[in-house]
This record gives sequence, structure tokens and C-alpha cells, in this order.
Amino acid sequence: MGSEKKVILTGMQPTGLLHLGNFLGAAYNWQKVLDGYTCYFFIPNQHAITIPQVPANLRNGTLNCVAQYIACGLDPERCTIFVQSHIVGHTELAWVLGCLTPLGQLYRMHQFKDKSAKNENIYSGLLYYPVLMAADILLYNADFVPTGEDQRQHVELARDLAEKFNGTYSETFTLPTPLIEGAGARIMSLKSPEHKMSKSDSDSNGTIYITDEPKMIRKKIATAITDSGDSIRIDPERPGIANLLNIYCAATGITLADGEEKFRTYTTYAHFKKEVAEAIIALLEPVQEKYRAIKDDKAYLQSVIQRGAETVQPIAHATIAKVYRKVGFLNQ
Ligand code: ATP
Ligand code: MG
Repeated sequence: MGSEKKVILTGMQPTGLLHLGNFLGAAYNWQKVLDGYTCYFFIPNQHAITIPQVPANLRNGTLNCVAQYIACGLDPERCTIFVQSHIVGHTELAWVLGCLTPLGQLYRMHQFKDKSAKNENIYSGLLYYPVLMAADILLYNADFVPTGEDQRQHVELARDLAEKFNGTYSETFTLPTPLIEGAGARIMSLKSPEHKMSKSDSDSNGTIYITDEPKMIRKKIATAITDSGDSIRIDPERPGIANLLNIYCAATGITLADGEEKFRTYTTYAHFKKEVAEAIIALLEPVQEKYRAIKDDKAYLQSVIQRGAETVQPIAHATIAKVYRKVGFLNQ
């Protein structure tokens, strides 16, 4: 009997330590779905090289990312964790999908615009990245793709390409749906709250990493940009304070309305900031404890991704065989 469970697939680039946005917008929600779905969590190292990387850092960062996934609650006994470059089907499918993707659609992607504005040398891989991401998703016929808000457009492209392939050839791919959850979906930088918190941000003071010590978290929150007002509420004109309130609510699991009510009588930001910092520290404590316990156990981490590759390889093979047959590639 085949499994009736719906398929979830998602991943985080091994481009640096995970931050609070990755945690609240992504990993924290992922561990809640482990038992209800067939879950594939992969490490998109091929996406990572769309921005130049130091090879040794990428190699170490990939294994480190496995440790961070597990520390964030992705129990490898209840889900599959694997590395993108171990499965050749991702790039094979990306080529086929790329031949169905209008160039204009790629130029319109927000993330391409953001990242190309931030980097001096822009390579075609950065433009092509969403096609590879569509291949990641469609290769395993994922039903749902949990992500932060910044990836919505990319999942929509994957859906468009699935429809296009199905319409051009015949019914092949499941149409994926993004799963984007509430308050944590868009955590902003503490230093420039009009931009999202990012691993690739060069100002580390704007970013809380999941491994930051309590002292560091208190310092970063205390020096977060706010404004000269004194009321604590969601106001688009005051993105710094809105971001801190959003973080507090996501970290403690309360609604924004309840958060505004809780802090209604506060008259200084300092007191509020202390509570935000303590909420983050409490949230990250179990993650940090688990991370410390496994991060240096390379044999264990390798065994997790080895097992993951063995689980997904046959699925990828079957999809590629079907796709190649449908597009008219001759068998060997
Ligand atoms: P990079 O700067 O290298 O792109 P990143 O911080 O954007 O790194 P990704 O690996 O691209 O992280 O994204 C991993 C997951 O985290 C995705 O699901 C993404 O939507 C989510 N995510 C990233 N940044 C944030 C954020 N600031 N708030 C909420 N979710 C986020
Ligand atoms: Mg990103």
C-alpha cells in the first residue's frame, strides 16, 4: 500500500548560519508538519553558488546546515534530509523546465532584482535560480512548499511551469502550493527594517543567528533601530518597532492584536526591548543545546544525508525517466 500522505519539500541555502527569520519564517513551522506529511528537507547547495562562495566554507556550511536543521527540530527519523547536488535529477529537470520558461518572467522576480542590486557581478545562475527551484519541487511532486514570504513568487513559478509542462505534454506534475505562515513570515533586519533579515547581509548586527549567545541577543535587540515615538503597535510608518513586535509575537505564539494589547501601557522602548530579547533567548535555548550536542559529530551528519540521498534517488530517477520520455529524448 502506498502512503496517502501529502508531500512537503523545502530547504535553506548553506550560505551561513541560520537566523531568526529562517527559524520563525521556516524551520519552526517545518517541525510541526513532520508526522502529518511525507517530508523532504534538502540543502540547496547548487542555489548557494548563484552568489560566489568560498569552496571550503560551502563544504563545511553544508554539513553544518544539516546540524542546524536537526537542532531546529527536524528529526531525521521522521523526515528525509538530503543534499541537492547528490541528486543529479535536479539539474536535469531544470534544463527541461528552463526550455519552457519565458525569460521576461525571470527578470520580473523580486529576489533577482534585490540580489542583483546588492551584488556587483551578476551571473546567469542568479537569474535561472527559480527554474532550478521549480525543478527541486516538481521532481518529488511536492504538494506543499513551506517558506517565508520572499519565496512565494518562486513557488508560483513552479506551479506555472508544472501547468505548462502538463499542458504541453500530458498530466505529469502535481501543482505545488506555498505554505506561508503568519507573523514569522517576514522578519526584517534590525539595522535596516525595510529589508528582510538575510544570511547574506554584510551587517551582522542586523541579524540574530540561531547560535547567538544570550548576551549578544540582548545587545542586538537593545541597539535595534526604532524611532522617536513611544507607542508599541504595528504601523507601516515605523518599521523598526513593528518588526520587534512581530518578532515577539512570533516567538511567543500570540497574535499581533494581543501583542499590541500587552504593550499598550508601556511608555519606553527599553523595557519592551528587554522582553523581546528574553522571548528570543527562551525560544532559541533548546535549539542551541541540541546544536552544541551534534555539530561536531561529522560521521552522524554524513550518515543522515547518505540515508536521505538513498531515499530520494529512486523518486528522482522515476520522474526524470518519465519527463525524458514525454519530451521525446531517445532511450539509451
Ligand atoms: P540568503 O541571503 O543567502 O538568500 P536567506 O536568509 O534569504 O539567505 P534562504 O536560505 O534563502 O535564507 O531561505 C531559507 C528559508 O527562510 C526560506 O523558506 C525563506 O523564505 C525563509 N526566510 C529567509 N529570510 C527570511 C526572513 N527574513 N523572514 C522570514 N523567513 C525568511
Ligand atoms: Mg534567500
